[in-house]
Amino acid sequence: MPELPEVETTVRGLERVLEGHWIARIEARRPDLRRALPVDLGQRLTGARITSLGRRAKYGLIGTDRHDTLIFHLGMSGRWRVDPTEIGKHDHFIMETDDGRRVALNDPRRFGSLDLVRSDQLAEWPPFAALGPEPLEVSPEELKRRLAGRTASIKLLLLDQGIIAGLGNIYVCEALYRAGIHPKRPGGSISMERLRRLVPAIHDVLAEAIAAGGSTLRDFASPDGDLGYFSKSFAVYDREGQPCACGGRVRRIVQGGRSTFYCPHCQR
Ligand SMILES: [Zn+2]
Repeated sequence: MPELPEVETTVRGLERVLEGHWIARIEARRPDLRRALPVDLGQRLTGARITSLGRRAKYGLIGTDRHDTLIFHLGMSGRWRVDPTEIGKHDHFIMETDDGRRVALNDPRRFGSLDLVRSDQLAEWPPFAALGPEPLEVSPEELKRRLAGRTASIKLLLLDQGIIAGLGNIYVCEALYRAGIHPKRPGGSISMERLRRLVPAIHDVLAEAIAAGGSTLRDFASPDGDLGYFSKSFAVYDREGQPCACGGRVRRIVQGGRSTFYCPHCQR
């Protein structure tokens, strides 16, 4: 499942192909993904110039000079294919540029989405309106304010998109490990001193994953070079029963229906 670093890597990959170019043609090969595609996609995008690529939480943003933003979400299995040699049955949306490049949104399970929103109304778009700050931008002070009075576990609160946007299970587990914070600790009880370790840990785990994804972009020119997925090794995530660097063993518990991996010796 694509997490924030995969989305960021995808956006950077698409930026190289799309930014500054005009959209010569689009093709929606089915009417919906998770929800219906905008019916006026072709009318609003064809002939527009792509002026910006960005990301908000786990959404990719493709802005045009017509003040529209095409918003994509990769869902469970989505990825963009750049200059695919053949169009396959899971390539649901295709965009071609004036210089003959072609990108295809491939999504076998179709949990992804495509929306078109006026660029000056992005902040009010319902999925964005309730989002917390970006994890790469949040400060310890702001996180402290957002956790204040909350008795739920820090693990679950960090997965709450209204507190901090786009942080997935893997990166929450890894950041709590690096900060030495027990995943069951109530969010509101965490000291400022510990939040000053947690916030840089969140920044670091994401930045390292984005850098690892960036290295996969070296294969970008290969005919079927997919954007968006890469593997990375983790300190605790998916390592139940394996040794921690401290000599203890990684433990797995279930919180909110999802696995948490942590080291009971290193995390208090
Ligand atoms: Zn340990």
